[in-house]
Amino acid sequence: MRQSMTLIPTLRELPSDAEIKSHQLLLRAGFIKQIASGVYSYLPLAKRALDNIGQIIREEMENAGAAELLLPALQPAELWQSSGRWYTYGDELMRMHDRHDRSFALGPTHEEVITSIVSDAVPSYKRLPVTLYQIQTKFRDEKRPRFGLLRGREFIMKDAYSFHTSAESLDDVYQKMYQAYTNIFTRCGLDFRAVLADSGAIGGKDTQEFMVLSEIGEDTIAYSDGSSYAANIEMAEVHQEYEKSNEPEQELSKVETPGQKTISEVSEFLNVQASNIIKSLVLIVDEEPVMVLVRGDHEINDIKVKNALNATSVEFADEERTKELLNCSFGSIGPVNLPATLKIVADKAIEAMVNAVCGANEDDYHYMNVVPGRDFTVEKFVDLRFIQEGDPSPDGKGTIKFARGIEVGHIFKLGTKYSEAMSAIYLDENGKSSPYLMGCYGIGVSRTLSAVAEQFNDENGLIWPANIAPYHIHLIPVNMKDSDQENLAEKLYRELKENRYNVLLDDRNERPGVKFKDSDLIGMPVRVTVGKKAAEGIVEVKVRKSGEMQEVKAEDLLQVLT
Ligand code: ATP
Ligand code: MG
Ligand code: MG
Ligand code: MG
Repeated sequence: MRQSMTLIPTLRELPSDAEIKSHQLLLRAGFIKQIASGVYSYLPLAKRALDNIGQIIREEMENAGAAELLLPALQPAELWQSSGRWYTYGDELMRMHDRHDRSFALGPTHEEVITSIVSDAVPSYKRLPVTLYQIQTKFRDEKRPRFGLLRGREFIMKDAYSFHTSAESLDDVYQKMYQAYTNIFTRCGLDFRAVLADSGAIGGKDTQEFMVLSEIGEDTIAYSDGSSYAANIEMAEVHQEYEKSNEPEQELSKVETPGQKTISEVSEFLNVQASNIIKSLVLIVDEEPVMVLVRGDHEINDIKVKNALNATSVEFADEERTKELLNCSFGSIGPVNLPATLKIVADKAIEAMVNAVCGANEDDYHYMNVVPGRDFTVEKFVDLRFIQEGDPSPDGKGTIKFARGIEVGHIFKLGTKYSEAMSAIYLDENGKSSPYLMGCYGIGVSRTLSAVAEQFNDENGLIWPANIAPYHIHLIPVNMKDSDQENLAEKLYRELKENRYNVLLDDRNERPGVKFKDSDLIGMPVRVTVGKKAAEGIVEVKVRKSGEMQEVKAEDLLQVLT
């Protein structure tokens, strides 16, 4: 491409509202332009870099057995109502009306759309598993759009969805995606780490995030210096099953509690103080080294679990709020005397633990003296919000260190969350119907671009890794009015292109200083300068990253480049 024909509006001044390097440099180097808060245009250089990331993703998705499609961004409210997320997604969901006053959403993610398609198109186990993906624009009305492409309100995502008949099959694809993500971010040249994650608004259980290590990351990662353990700190992770205790304590007794529904009503009926319920809960938790997890929508200081790793005490910051929490209704946990493993989802932790102690939840009956480990098992949670640097790693190996990270990818096992809610079923070989097991796998494509920019730059500008660089070579005739220089540059331009290099030819009539400054700023991996020695057939090759420079004969250029 001739520089005179494309659009690279570089800026000399530091944009005043850009706080971080990648945002400043992408603006200054003429890659992006903001059009509204969190909404950007991708100018030609950014488009090429995004396409390169897209190409890497496409190759790895193909290897993982995923087929590409393209889903609509504009989605009818009914779809979102059928999954329930119309009511739970909150303000991040961009909602709108058409001329007939019908409600729509601009897709922040596509579980609903893809589930409806597969439900229609894949009614039988014979066509399963299937994995589909797209690279597409997403919309989220972020509370704090910032850092340029890192947190936009309109951004590009790769999202993949898999559908299965068995947990083994889901596991298999999840592992393939894990590998694909590892390959993708490695090929992008990023310094990243896969960490344990929570499931946020998407739901589900087994989930990992891919974090680019960076000072400006919005997430804090706790990792062990003695093992591969790493987790997003705001997140909780289940990592150890509570052993079944063989020492029965008090008799389990079933108490009739007609019409009783809430914990406070039950506690009143049983003449147990609600706060005692929590306290005894904590004792039990304390005696058995199980962590109590307190998180989710509840404010951090509602209840403080001190030293969560040892779960030594619980403090109530606000009595009213505590009562409110205790008022949450029973029934969602399942019978407490079931021997099955109870997986307590984060938000339900308090409720579940209260259930565990005072027992609850058959209609009009509650259990007393329920003992965790005897009457049910709990998986262990660590509330990582309270973990400190230097604490023992939750896996028992090594101690905890902190790092900041940018979430560039996220993989989830969704289970039947969406298929059940949306009655998306297949028929198995016996003609029995079941909801699909699902997985979903996202990559922030535009976020990845800025993560690369954040990781690869110096005081002069961007330094693109070869795999992502918009052009391999920046070819610069110093003086376009010098015919030796112009002719040699044109000749090299043709030859390099014939040899499949992507070349940007700076054919502008600019001063050398301007050309070189721009060249450093936009950061192509290799610069070839055609200057005074053009008449002798000599050019200069400079590696952007190392600054390493050498003079080469024009006819040797191709050889030097390989
Ligand atoms: P975050 O925690 O940063 O808000 P998320 O967990 O809400 O991200 P996911 O729902 O997991 O995001 O979406 C998949 C991927 O899309 C993320 O891993 C991230 O790379 C990207 N992404 C999410 N929100 C944005 C955004 N506002 N701007 C750019 N990329 C985003
Ligand atoms: Mg988010
Ligand atoms: Mg997240
Ligand atoms: Mg996420």
